[in-house]
Amino acid sequence: MTAVTRLNVMQPNLGEEEIAAVADVIESGWIAQGPRVAEFETRFAALVDTRNAVAVSNCTAALHLAMVVARVQPGDDVVVPSFSFVATANAPTYVGARPVFADVDPVTGNVTAETIENVLTPKTTAVIAVDQGGIPADIAGIRAVCEPRGITLVEDAACGAGSRLGNRPMGVSADIAVWSFHPRKLLTTGEGGMLTTNRQDWADRARKLREHGMSVSAAQRHQSVLAPAEQYLEVGFNYRMTDLQAAVGIVQLGRLAEMVTRRRVLAGMYQDALADVPGVRCVADPAGGRSNFQSFWIEVSAGHRNSREELLGELASAGISARRGIMAAHRHPAHAGRDHADLTVTERLTDSTLILPLFHQMTSDDLFRVVDVIRRS
Ligand SMILES: *Cc1c(COP(=O)(O)O)cnc(C)c1O
Repeated sequence: MTAVTRLNVMQPNLGEEEIAAVADVIESGWIAQGPRVAEFETRFAALVDTRNAVAVSNCTAALHLAMVVARVQPGDDVVVPSFSFVATANAPTYVGARPVFADVDPVTGNVTAETIENVLTPKTTAVIAVDQGGIPADIAGIRAVCEPRGITLVEDAACGAGSRLGNRPMGVSADIAVWSFHPRKLLTTGEGGMLTTNRQDWADRARKLREHGMSVSAAQRHQSVLAPAEQYLEVGFNYRMTDLQAAVGIVQLGRLAEMVTRRRVLAGMYQDALADVPGVRCVADPAGGRSNFQSFWIEVSAGHRNSREELLGELASAGISARRGIMAAHRHPAHAGRDHADLTVTERLTDSTLILPLFHQMTSDDLFRVVDVIRRS
């Protein structure tokens, strides 16, 4: 019997530099939110070409803060895709608002101006548009729906670090963008998130809210022996990132361009190798966009000899860990009771898509192991 090595769907790209950066932080004696977090924020803001970046403990916390600073109220409606990780649909509920599900484009898997417009109500005060799997959503088109109506546009760019739309980084055109540094994403800090916005008042409030609503940050207090008296301005949260995480993030930022390039090469190899397989469609760049291919998915349709479930099973037998495509929140108990519009495309994509292994260290041999199972007739 030959042992097959297991191929994971994703693997973080961490090494000696990250280890050294963490060791430096430990030696510095200041491991909670401090100078590394500030530096990571400055560098991240530059990367996404946005005035303010506020680091937080994860992207779910950033989504929550986005709802709070945008002043989404109890009873408001917030349009979200059902076709997304559940955190997107959960965010409005944290402030007592109702997630209203919009369907997605059958090619990109993203909400569009049209699918959003279809579900607007007089109570809609915000839209959360997701760049699903790193594929940039049509933010300009969605903005044109939101802006005249005074609706806040939040971009859930959790998967999107390093993706571009036109000649700009993703996230710049929304009122607020949120990012994730979970190991399932390209750039990781173990857990971690970021909120970016050009609105100074929103950034200032998010910075206070992540630290219990304190008037003076813990880092500022640490700088003086006689710490200034702090005040708690409003009810806040503990959503801080640590300097240990930020130190890893700073190193990862330096690798991001290289990581995106590598993923795009591997994605191109999948696209070429699977182009002529009946019943298989690969995810691709949208018009004018360059994806980081955080998730490389295929849609398996009737033309393939196997169903999606059978193909998953065959891949697993070959030691290849693929994943069912993106979930549909409206089908899960946490959100199943909600009224919703037609979600035909969402339901089809969630039932027919498969996420294939794609990670920085993956070799072409690894990739062709996956391709061979899918092409086998
Ligand atoms: C991963 C993900 C999140 C949650 O990010 P965390 O950092 O794990 O909280 C939110 N939205 C989308 C679209 C995601 O893919």
